[in-house]
Amino acid sequence: RPALPGEQIRMRVFADGGLSASERAALLQRPLIDSAEIMRRVRPIVDAVRANGDAAVLELTEKFDRVRMQQVVLRAPFDVPALPAAVRAAIDQAYANVHAFHAAQLDPPTCVETMPGVKCSRFSRAIERVGLYVPGGSAVLPSSALMLGVPAQVAGCREIVLATPPRADGSIVPEVLYVAHKVGATAIVMAGGAQAIAAMAYGTESVPKVDKICGPGNQYVTAAKMLAQNDTAAMVAIDMPAGPSEVLVIADATSNPAYVASDLLSQAEHGPDSQVVLLAVGLDDAQLAAIEAQVHAQAERLPRVDIVRQSIPKSYCLRVATMADAMAFSNAYAPEHLILHNDRAAGYVDDVVNAGSVFVGPYSPESCGDYASGTNHTLPTYGFSRMYSGVNTATFLKHITSQELTREGLANIGQTVMTLAEVEELEAHRNAVAIRLRDM
Ligand code: NAD
Repeated sequence: RPALPGEQIRMRVFADGGLSASERAALLQRPLIDSAEIMRRVRPIVDAVRANGDAAVLELTEKFDRVRMQQVVLRAPFDVPALPAAVRAAIDQAYANVHAFHAAQLDPPTCVETMPGVKCSRFSRAIERVGLYVPGGSAVLPSSALMLGVPAQVAGCREIVLATPPRADGSIVPEVLYVAHKVGATAIVMAGGAQAIAAMAYGTESVPKVDKICGPGNQYVTAAKMLAQNDTAAMVAIDMPAGPSEVLVIADATSNPAYVASDLLSQAEHGPDSQVVLLAVGLDDAQLAAIEAQVHAQAERLPRVDIVRQSIPKSYCLRVATMADAMAFSNAYAPEHLILHNDRAAGYVDDVVNAGSVFVGPYSPESCGDYASGTNHTLPTYGFSRMYSGVNTATFLKHITSQELTREGLANIGQTVMTLAEVEELEAHRNAVAIRLRDM
């Protein structure tokens, strides 16, 4: 249950040694999401936008965001309002770092001569039209616009459509407008939720249809992305499934309790469903109590303490004996963010098998990756870091292969191809080689 005001804000504590296999499995699980109920609400929204286009988007925006808009789309160039100099400079610095890191991810083409005269290549091309969802709701999230917009720009996407809910006065958050301008967005869809996703997936009179939709959002946004991805009529890809944000922190006796607590809380303040896990490696009771005291003291000073009172009691600390135990648990949990908090942290990066992004050592708080260091903050949650990567430059690219055989190359490989075509009893395949070999 949530902590009451004045009550100690604390995580549940378990000891690895004392857990049964099923208790351990339960700790590795995320809370179940009732997707059927959400789908039931989202399907009519998607259908309405498909049937009635802009009119439906305007109506749904009035219903859910409580603002009657005159139009759905802003086209570039945007009217960017003046921002405080410090905010502008911070966005510029973050943009430069994220751009540098994502530009370095552009691969040169691969070219391999697999046999003499048989040249195979692979090169990339940008996905032409992409839709970037920047959550709005109550928050101001220029960082999400940066983390999606910069890799799309670096990849060279021709049309970058950014969607975000309008504010109560019908305007777009100025910081998001500034980022949209910097990343070269071509249009802004002034709508949120499932209606914004549907508009970009199917297109409306004013909203351009896109080929891939990326970005985080609440359960309505996620459900609409899943629906669109599964509808061949939409012909649209998505980046990844998303759930509430999570962090797993590994701390030992060399960790600074105040730093550890600050990292746990920076995740816990996201929302009541945020997942926060602390793996305490070989800590005695006094060392663990020092972290717990810091969690409570720092939480009490946060403006979002009410959210933390809900998320921290749902979170847990697991006491483990060794770093090897901690890494094994972390890899099984597959966290979105992994923070290695001890003094030899860099030595453990090789042991990471499953994680969205890793924060190494006491001076690498997650906040730096969330905003400005250069790495992307759109990462796989819910254990999907087992098989998904976070958003990166390749998210906005396709890789195309090509081959060129010389006369000599065809002579070299011809018999192999004909034999395999015979095995598969595909005579026309065999003949396409044979007809050429006969001329040689
Ligand atoms: P949002 O933009 O995702 O959703 C707002 C929209 O939800 C509204 O425009 C409205 O259309 C729709 N909506 C609200 N109530 C509805 C209802 N009853 N029925 C149908 N539609 C409804 O903004 P949010 O709600 O603030 O959620 C943002 C989410 O994004 C949070 O879960 C946050 O944790 C997540 N987030 C994640 C990252 C990340 O990188 N992982 C970054 C930023 C935000």
